[in-house]
Amino acid sequence: MRTAGRVARLRERFDELKVDAVVVSSEANVRYLTGFSGEGWAVIDGETTLVTDGRYTLRAEREAPGLQVVCRNGSMRDVVVDRLKRGGATRVGFEADHLTVNARNDLKRGLRGIGLVPLAALQRAARMIKDAREVKLLRQAIAATDAAFGAVCKDLAPGMTEVDLALEIERQLRLAGADGAGFPSIVAGGPNSADPHAEPGRRKLRLTDNVKLDFGGVLQGYHADLTRTVFLREPTRKQREIYSVVREAQRRAIAACQPGVLGKDVDAAARDTIREAGYGEAFSHGLGHGVGLEIHEGPGLGHTSQDVLQPGMLITVEPGIYLKGWGGVRLEDIVLITPKGCEVLTKAPKLDLG
Ligand code: ZN
Ligand code: ZN
Repeated sequence: MRTAGRVARLRERFDELKVDAVVVSSEANVRYLTGFSGEGWAVIDGETTLVTDGRYTLRAEREAPGLQVVCRNGSMRDVVVDRLKRGGATRVGFEADHLTVNARNDLKRGLRGIGLVPLAALQRAARMIKDAREVKLLRQAIAATDAAFGAVCKDLAPGMTEVDLALEIERQLRLAGADGAGFPSIVAGGPNSADPHAEPGRRKLRLTDNVKLDFGGVLQGYHADLTRTVFLREPTRKQREIYSVVREAQRRAIAACQPGVLGKDVDAAARDTIREAGYGEAFSHGLGHGVGLEIHEGPGLGHTSQDVLQPGMLITVEPGIYLKGWGGVRLEDIVLITPKGCEVLTKAPKLDLG
């Protein structure tokens, strides 16, 4: 089974983590380590046990064949505690950035003499580097997202609301082969596009708008992420100017994407370009992030990121300029870090404004 190697690599780290068992509770890590996509926890010591409930029994058998699956009737806590005790655990790691304080305290009461060890960012480093199957799924999710963008652009017209467009995006993602939208689509027209994470509303698109679309399909848990800013007619001088700066910032950042480079240095390539053009204050977020089983995962591409780029990483490169009252422009592509540099996986067209 393909996840067995991942569990084996985690077990190899038990000494370093000072644990002899781990309780995995986050959806993405459970999926990464067991293949199971429903709700449940995994207990890993010498063996791996998936604890879920009756809603997911069939799915667990299908997605995690060969694993011990326990279908709980009572509380998750009771089943997990019982399982850990039977396994002889003495120090149990848990996901510190996922388990709630209440759930952790509850577990602690059940485990009594057994130590609970908070583990931060469990599997973050492992999940940053994608294997061949993951890259293939991400390529497919990205291709479906590109296709949905092409289809949506054909219908784009003044008078549509942002909500109309968001619905159409989600429909087109499924038609293009994605399992659905991986996160709530951002559709922002005119002044709304000045808000980097705007939610689609009832405002009707106008001929003069910047229309910022940020969306992505998900395929077997793997997330694509695409941003394009489009215009409904010939862009004005100001629209052209801002778009060109963002596009150049993105171009320089992508040129900086190579193995061995720090996340913060890729961020700086884009940020310096925008600052030199006089819009430094208007680029108000980090340059990008890893994508995978979560829409935002490691590595980070912010201005303080010490993450080192390595072959097999997939990252977004998404500079933007946001001017309150006027609007915003963002462009976002996904690149795969390769042994020699990078490959841009996103194929959705951009405007060439010279
Ligand atoms: Zn995005
Ligand atoms: Zn993104």
